[in-house]
Order: sequence, then structure tokens, then C-alpha cells
Amino acid sequence: MLVTGRTRVAGVIGDPVRHSRSPALHNAAFAAAGLDWVYVAFEVGEGEVPSALAGMRSLGLAGLNVTMPHKQAVADAVDVLTPDAQALDAVNTVVPVEGRLVGHNTDGAGFLDSLVLDAGVEVAGRRCLVLGAGGAARAVVRALAGAGAAEVVVVNRTPAAGERAAALAGSIGRLGTELDVGDADLVVNATPLGMGARAGELPCDPGRLRGAGQVVVDLVYDPLETAWLAAARTAGATTVDGLGMLVRQAAHAFTLWTGIEAPVEAMRAGASPRP
Ligand code: NAP
Repeated sequence: MLVTGRTRVAGVIGDPVRHSRSPALHNAAFAAAGLDWVYVAFEVGEGEVPSALAGMRSLGLAGLNVTMPHKQAVADAVDVLTPDAQALDAVNTVVPVEGRLVGHNTDGAGFLDSLVLDAGVEVAGRRCLVLGAGGAARAVVRALAGAGAAEVVVVNRTPAAGERAAALAGSIGRLGTELDVGDADLVVNATPLGMGARAGELPCDPGRLRGAGQVVVDLVYDPLETAWLAAARTAGATTVDGLGMLVRQAAHAFTLWTGIEAPVEAMRAGASPRP
């Protein structure tokens, strides 16, 4: 990659952010698309979001992604929010448009694309259950409702947060318990259980799964093969890992910034763990 005086700069803000796969993923995409763009990770501390966005304006950054813990602070600081970002009160992608910063949330669209385009899973008319009620879960709940799910049940350690997440699905959303897992057609782990240092931990007793005819998704992508997905496959369910959502939410961001179709396979290769 040759960086020149004309190279455009995009990046991600978060804390911590050094572990992020986004630089590898987006730089692979820029190279595949032949764009003179570069993507870097910026560690931005708590309370620094307004100045980071001011820096984005004054330095003319071409786009930003936002990760933990800044998604809500960025939603408060941008000039305009899309309906998804507004409903979720969270921004994961900032796009500069004619001097204004527009806050998007591409997590829900990325989740749906990973199901529909990558895994061939139909959502309309399906009974769905989401484990967790944090930022990722909320995006998934809203996306499932928007895609015509028959119902969206939320199961969460803290019931009040589960209620708030279920409300994003409107009249088809409700708070549930692990006892609902067997009746669901689509079960999504949107907790961090199974991720990184929590590898091996399960978000729910896999004995609750029905198995046959069920699709079981894990948003966790490190490791790709979680204990939850392994148990679901043993139970006879079809499984979908978290890499597809990571790639597809990034593909939406890429297109918002560049105006061109994202090179999804190059992004997937860039984001995949090194052997
Ligand atoms: P978050 O906002 O911190 O929410 C975490 C949720 O998990 C909360 O509902 C929390 O319950 C629950 N939880 C946490 N620890 C728990 C435990 N020990 N037992 C039971 N429930 C627990 O996190 P997030 O941003 O939504 O991310 C969730 C996961 O999704 C992470 O692993 C993240 O890496 C992954 N993710 C993947 C993608 C992708 O593209 N594949 C995108 C976004 C996120 P309480 O409400 O009770 O605290």
C-alpha cells in the first residue's frame, strides 16, 4: 500500500480498540476496490468523543466506525441520525455529508444480510429468540421485527433491560425465559458469553434447544466455533457464526463512505483469523 498526499483516511474509535479486526477488514476492502484509502484504529478515552468528532471534521476523515464504549455518546454528538441509529440510540458508522456528520447503525442490516445472503435463512414468519439485551441484541431485535418475524422473544439476565429491548420489536416483542428456547425457530446469542476470555461459557443450557428445524446463531466471532454453536450442531440445529455479521455490517459502512459496492469476499478474508 502506497500512502500519498491524496490518500483518504477512515478509521474506528473505541477503547480498547487495538484488538479490532476492522483495520484488516477495511484495508483489504480498499485494496481490492483499488481505492487510495487507508483505515486506522484510534483509541479514544471516555469523555473524548466530542473532540474526536471535531477532529474528524477538521482533519476531513472520510468515515468512522464506532465501537465500545462510544456508540451512544456518538449518537448524542452527530448532526443527524438515521431511523435505525435513532431507535437504537447507538451509532456504529459516521458518514460526513456536506459538512454534517450523519450517524448510522449498520449492525441490524449486517445481521440480516449474514442470515439471508450468506446462510440462506428465511426470517419472515419465524419465531425468534434473542439471548441478551445489549447494543448488539437491540439491533438484532429491531432487524428481526423489520424483516417480518412472527415474534421476537428476549431473554436477559436483567429483565428490565430485556423489556426495553423487546419493545424495539413493537407488538411482536416480549420478554421470555430459557423455557421459550425450544419453541423458537431462530435462536441468537447476543451476549459476550463464549467470547475471548469467556470461551467455553454458554449463554443458555443447550438442553433447551429443540435442535431439528432450528437455526442457532452466535454473534461471537472470536473464536468462530463457540461452545454454543458446537452444542447446537450436536443437537441437530443449523448454525451461523458471527463473522458474517461482522463483515456485512462493515460492507454497509464501506458503501456509505465510498458509494461503491463492497468487495465482501476480500473483507471476509481480511477479517478471518490468521491460521
Ligand atoms: P453489551 O452491550 O455489553 O451487552 C451484553 C449483554 O449480554 C447484556 O444483555 C448482558 O446482560 C448480557 N450478559 C453479559 N454478561 C452476562 C453473563 N455473565 N450472563 C448473562 N448475561 C450476560 O454487549 P454487545 O455490544 O451487545 O455485544 C454482545 C456480543 O456480541 C459481544 O460478544 C460482541 O463481540 C458481539 N457482537 C458481534 C458483532 C458481530 O458483528 N458479529 C457485532 C456486535 C457485537 P445484562 O443486561 O444483564 O447486563
